[in-house]
Amino acid sequence: MKIILLGGPACGKGVQAKKICEKYNLVHISTGELLRDKIKQNTALSEKLKETISSGNLVADNIICELVKEKISTCQKDGYLLDGFPRTMMQANLYSEFDKPDIVILLETDKNLALSRVKSRRVCLNCKASLKVDELKNKHCPYCSGSVGTRIDDTAEVFEKRYEIYKMQSAPLIKYYGDLGLLVKIENNHSIEETFNEIIKSLSKLKELK
Ligand code: AMP
Repeated sequence: MKIILLGGPACGKGVQAKKICEKYNLVHISTGELLRDKIKQNTALSEKLKETISSGNLVADNIICELVKEKISTCQKDGYLLDGFPRTMMQANLYSEFDKPDIVILLETDKNLALSRVKSRRVCLNCKASLKVDELKNKHCPYCSGSVGTRIDDTAEVFEKRYEIYKMQSAPLIKYYGDLGLLVKIENNHSIEETFNEIIKSLSKLKELK
């Protein structure tokens, strides 16, 4: 199964992606995570990536597509889930040259709710889990006890910029995948479990059709 998960900044993609991948044995390909790993490698590219991400801008399409293509080529599981990709029509077109999704799930989240998630979001530096500040155990990750940090782009100001870019860039993507009959919209303003159940319903229907 090949899934694309679309949605704005802090819409809850990461949390749902992790749950979907566990349930369906899929490789979770988060372009944000791949980029944050690249930054840690301290190469010539790292500083440039850090600058782009911390300002809320998008990384160049060719860099992203190379990362995704490389990752997909090594996928060993029952498929993959793309979290945060494609973000532009150029990326969607480049991706269509080497693969295509079975379904595109659009998570729709209220903007104020997403902003409040940004303010309370923490990330485990070890297992990469996305956490809420009040979930932490003695300031550590409740899953692996790893140290916890904040993302360089989790500020209200950068959120606004990312949100504007998302609105502009996602409209043609939503139309494109809608026209292909692949798009499913799921509202994500309630609990994690409620949203997950809605996603499972859509994925079960898809599996029945296959
Ligand atoms: P995310 O973890 O998906 O919220 O992404 C964090 C940041 O990484 C984004 O705000 C962008 O700067 C960059 N990024 C992640 N995915 C992409 C993508 N597909 N295209 C361009 N930039 C990306």
